[in-house]
Amino acid sequence: MSAMLNELEITGRARTHVLQFHEPTRFAAQQEAGEAFLAMRAAAAKDGINVVPVSSFRDFQTQLRIWNYKFSGQRPLYDIHGVARDFGSLTPEQVIDCILNWSALPGGSRHQWGTEIDVVDGAAPALYEPMLLPQEVASGGIYERLHKWLDANIAKFGFFRPYEHYQGGMYPEPWHLSYAPLSTKVIGQVSADLLTEVIEASPVLGKDLLLPRIPEIFRNHILNFNRAPSA
Ligand SMILES: [Zn+2]
Repeated sequence: MSAMLNELEITGRARTHVLQFHEPTRFAAQQEAGEAFLAMRAAAAKDGINVVPVSSFRDFQTQLRIWNYKFSGQRPLYDIHGVARDFGSLTPEQVIDCILNWSALPGGSRHQWGTEIDVVDGAAPALYEPMLLPQEVASGGIYERLHKWLDANIAKFGFFRPYEHYQGGMYPEPWHLSYAPLSTKVIGQVSADLLTEVIEASPVLGKDLLLPRIPEIFRNHILNFNRAPSA
């Protein structure tokens, strides 16, 4: 399963590279990444932590839906602290910038690769609805304990946090884990030309503003992530 992905797979327009895992928890990933995740999950369980995948493989259509909801103001846009922004006061260009702080360009999401998993602690109160915002991870936050465990253990299972620190691209997403042995290969297969081709052919909102910005988005968002410590 460590073969190169094809262009449909890289951009989430096919799911031939992922397996649907059902037990003991439901998610989709490339086989090797999924098995590494389950091994990590079993180790965490011994320490009383229930590592639950809330988002794993995401296809192009799902990423497109997220984008279009956000561009049209049907889903909130957040600042770096997780505080909702005032959609009505933003120009379309600013809306695009705000979406890109937290969400990937459709076709350019690492979640399309089958190597990325967003996690929460399922041992948190059952009625708690995860938001994936910084306040959950911060000191005193509901997932603080989970993240202390992840800090100490993810590297042993091949995972790293591509959005650990803000460096002008994505805001920090410490819950977003990437399986390095596979994802460090896929990143080399993504290109601005491929993304342009995919965006041109899709009903993405803001397309006219987006197309000329793709080389910059590729550089400042897609290539601009925190490298795996050993890579
Ligand atoms: Zn994520």
